Amino acid sequence: MLGETIAAIGTALGEAGIGIVRLSGDNALEIIKRVFVPLDRARFEHGIGYHLYYGHILEPDVQTIVDEVLVSIMRSPHSYTGEDVVEINCHGGVVAQQIILNLVLSSGARLALPGEFTKRAFINGRLDLAQAEAIIDLIRAKTSLSAASAVEQLRGRLSTAIQECRNILLGVLAHIEAGIDFPEDDIVLNEDTVFMAELENVRVQLQGILSTAERGKILRDGLNTAIVGQPNVGKSSLLNALLREEKAIVTDIPGTTRDVLAEYISVRGIPLKLMDTAGIRDTVDSIEKIGIERALGALRSADLVLFVIEAGRNLSARERELLLAIPQDSLIIVINKIDVAEPMELDFDVPVYFISALKNEGIAQLEDGIVNLATGRSWGESPIVSNTRHISTIEKAAGRVNEAIYLISSGVPLDLVSIDIRAAHQFLGEISGETVSEDLLDEIFSRFCIGK
Ligand code: GDP
Repeated sequence: MLGETIAAIGTALGEAGIGIVRLSGDNALEIIKRVFVPLDRARFEHGIGYHLYYGHILEPDVQTIVDEVLVSIMRSPHSYTGEDVVEINCHGGVVAQQIILNLVLSSGARLALPGEFTKRAFINGRLDLAQAEAIIDLIRAKTSLSAASAVEQLRGRLSTAIQECRNILLGVLAHIEAGIDFPEDDIVLNEDTVFMAELENVRVQLQGILSTAERGKILRDGLNTAIVGQPNVGKSSLLNALLREEKAIVTDIPGTTRDVLAEYISVRGIPLKLMDTAGIRDTVDSIEKIGIERALGALRSADLVLFVIEAGRNLSARERELLLAIPQDSLIIVINKIDVAEPMELDFDVPVYFISALKNEGIAQLEDGIVNLATGRSWGESPIVSNTRHISTIEKAAGRVNEAIYLISSGVPLDLVSIDIRAAHQFLGEISGETVSEDLLDEIFSRFCIGK
């Protein structure tokens, strides 16, 4: 219920320099006054916003000091949620924050649900739904590029583009409805070509946005990556070179580097999500022994396969077979150890990079290759869409716009066409949250952490 004052710890629990307990709602100021003793009482009494108040949190009953804190006040509507917000900067760690949270809860606040601060910001019109969803993407961003894409969405780039399309659709609808409702008003109904042009404009814009979906998803979720090859070809060394730090255990003994080293690595800002390489390595290490189909099963779900081969050594029949069977658009061949052997010629029509993982040679070129494979075409002008919900909703809207274009060109009466246009308008409204159901809202915000 809006109006109720909510509270939560906003920082991650654990040893840290500071922690933040935040409050939002009508009684936020009243509640902080019950537990906080400021040095500058006069100013604090006035609740002047955007000041930091130094003081102590006191246990009201026993008057013992719980922590030395800085309190900030952000008055409605100029706050994250649009309500009165109070943030208590206390010491980090598990205990102080928890005691302070318990104090504000017993002083009249209730514990916030996951994402409830952001949900209130949405309900109070501080941000639209796509922007709210960008916040969770920003929190979860794996690399600088994913974060930049989330910030762009947070700043409203996607929302603005979608709103433009909605406005055009609304304009068309208004014209059609005027024509339908007031035929005697002499409105020229032969506007098919104008409507077609407007709908075509929307179609192109939506397609432009959808064409970024693949890249958006990569930025958000990472490129599923497998580094495979026979034992001892240098897979861990390559991973190390990409990580640029010695995290992996590099060893001469085949088969001792099976632990998962890092879940994500960043290649020029593109997150590579390393697949559970133990399984794949087991499979590929034993490619001489076990069926090609099993090895492939694991590799088919990869977006990027870095297939490592040792320079100067002939391909085994199994390696060749596997190389041919892996989807070629996700395959990069890496010939390693060029510092000790001549690289051989390969007759595969996929990118091949020659490196020395040990000497850090050729890694920059390989990174170029990975970026090319990940991004494909240029980044383009359209805002990047990365969220599955947005993608499928835009697809539905685009489908209805296409249908409307088809119907008009087939001479179907405009009042029938308007059903599709209205549906497209409605779908696009789900992205900004204007036409979204309560259930969907709950589902979206439940994915947030508590305190956001
Ligand atoms: P993995 O079993 O495929 O993960 O292979 P490792 O990364 O553990 O490497 C196996 C051995 O090859 C180690 O002794 C590495 O030092 C060595 N090695 C890896 N890359 C290179 C390279 O580029 N040049 C040379 N000379 N040795 C390398």
